[in-house]
Amino acid sequence: MSFAKIPKPDELINIEYAPPKTEWRKTPVDFRPGTWSYAAAAKNLMALGMPNPRAWQPSDADWKLPENWKQIILDGMKERLEKYRSFRLFMDICVRCGACADKCHFYIGSGDPKNMPVLRAELIRSVYRRYFTMAGRCFGTLAGARDLTEDVLKEWFYYFYQCTECRRCSVFCPYGIDQAEITMIGRELLNLVGCNINWALEPAANCFRTGNHLGIQPGGMKDMLEFMADDIEDRTGVRVDVPINKKSADILFVTPSADYFADPGTYTCMGYMMLFHEIGLNYTFSTYASEGGNFGLFTSHDMIKRLNAKIYAEAKRLGVKWILGGECGHMWRVIHQYMDTLNGPADFLQEPVSPITGTRFENARSTKMVHIVEFTADLIRNSKLKLDPQRNSHIKLTFHDSCNPARAMGLFEEPRYIIENTCRNFYEMAEDTIREKTFCCGAGAGLGNEENMEMRMRGGMPRAMAVRDVVRKYGVNRLGCICAIDRATLTTLMDYWVPGVSVMGVHELLGNALVMKDEKERMTDLRGEEIGGE
Ligand code: SF4
Ligand code: SF4
Repeated sequence: MSFAKIPKPDELINIEYAPPKTEWRKTPVDFRPGTWSYAAAAKNLMALGMPNPRAWQPSDADWKLPENWKQIILDGMKERLEKYRSFRLFMDICVRCGACADKCHFYIGSGDPKNMPVLRAELIRSVYRRYFTMAGRCFGTLAGARDLTEDVLKEWFYYFYQCTECRRCSVFCPYGIDQAEITMIGRELLNLVGCNINWALEPAANCFRTGNHLGIQPGGMKDMLEFMADDIEDRTGVRVDVPINKKSADILFVTPSADYFADPGTYTCMGYMMLFHEIGLNYTFSTYASEGGNFGLFTSHDMIKRLNAKIYAEAKRLGVKWILGGECGHMWRVIHQYMDTLNGPADFLQEPVSPITGTRFENARSTKMVHIVEFTADLIRNSKLKLDPQRNSHIKLTFHDSCNPARAMGLFEEPRYIIENTCRNFYEMAEDTIREKTFCCGAGAGLGNEENMEMRMRGGMPRAMAVRDVVRKYGVNRLGCICAIDRATLTTLMDYWVPGVSVMGVHELLGNALVMKDEKERMTDLRGEEIGGE
């Protein structure tokens, strides 16, 4: 299948905000190439034991649904209304104030009213009213209810896979309605009848097959880490260890597999390895828990649980004291908000204490898992690292708060603290586009594929415009972040909207600035670019 041609930026920026002439319930979905994601391949559904594996695409007239698909969806909805109080609450309490309406990057970038969070939720809320409320059963459309039809199901698919579960809209909702949770339930229901996207399910299937979403075998992972150790030696003259599946380790280190396998994540991974060597940390990578990213978040609560369980299982097998996690986005949403409930309590682990500073990470008392930026910021605060920010003088950096570490964890200060200690040229983007109000990369939650490129560029446009602003004001040339999906998707986004800006992790910055014992004179940064060069 060939990918749709994406319009040029000056064409894409002409966004039509006038609503369609027909009322929203009578405006059918147009599966226009470039705005939707391919259906999950049958082999991936079978690998995960999911229903209705078959060959189909969303643009087909016949979706080959099970005969009783409607009953399956309504039963699934009933079950979830009973199981998740938040879902029932979010179905009932929206007062349609409209505070969220213009806060979604997909609405801003597309002008499609069904990408307003309030209307996205209404797609499912209208069905809830029809089948689960007295008013909807008695008064139908007068009470804002509508029947569940195939067209409605197609609309769910289109718009619940045009939501990156970023939760920006929730920040502005006076009732705290969490659209990401509604989208997750919408996707769960679609999954019950086999309607899902390949870029969410293939990574999940790969995680079960080989431990990571890219499907790399343990030998491949070992080779990549060894290559990185070679590169570190080449740049610094220092040979770092590559501990893998080490049973006597104190700490299990889990990071997204993109950090081992794809630039620019590899430079971030080199930064971690240099840091751990320098402080003499007794840690290990794992080939079984070789993926921090939890692709279950894009599919169902059950899949979140199944994938997340591997981290605790491996920590138990290796007998470590606690777990340290790398720079990732949705991995941290799962760890921070679901891990303990779904797979805890991890009583076999200890409350995390830094072996270098003695700091007790009380916030991780329950999960036993610490974020790398908390760990590193603590090292800097306790003067345990020698840093030379001058080595990043060729970098003019701005920082993108990745949605999940920012909004789900409140990790605003720690990455900035590391940046301020490792780079002299740091420029913030506009206030209403950072911290809890940060704009999404436009391609999280399984949407970072090639076929969906027009929608990615539309959804990423608000973030890109904020970057363009600091490029024009300060000559910014790098965009920092603490998420592996961001490192991949923002690179494409910058190439499209703001060419000349490359993307990096915060620990790449740290690796550049870290003065290691016995190192040789550094001539280049971790990318092999001249220090102090333009
Ligand atoms: S969660 Fe994010 S992508 Fe989804 S509706 Fe809200 S702002 Fe839009
Ligand atoms: S801000 Fe909240 S209450 Fe207001 S329309 Fe949006 S979801 Fe409903």
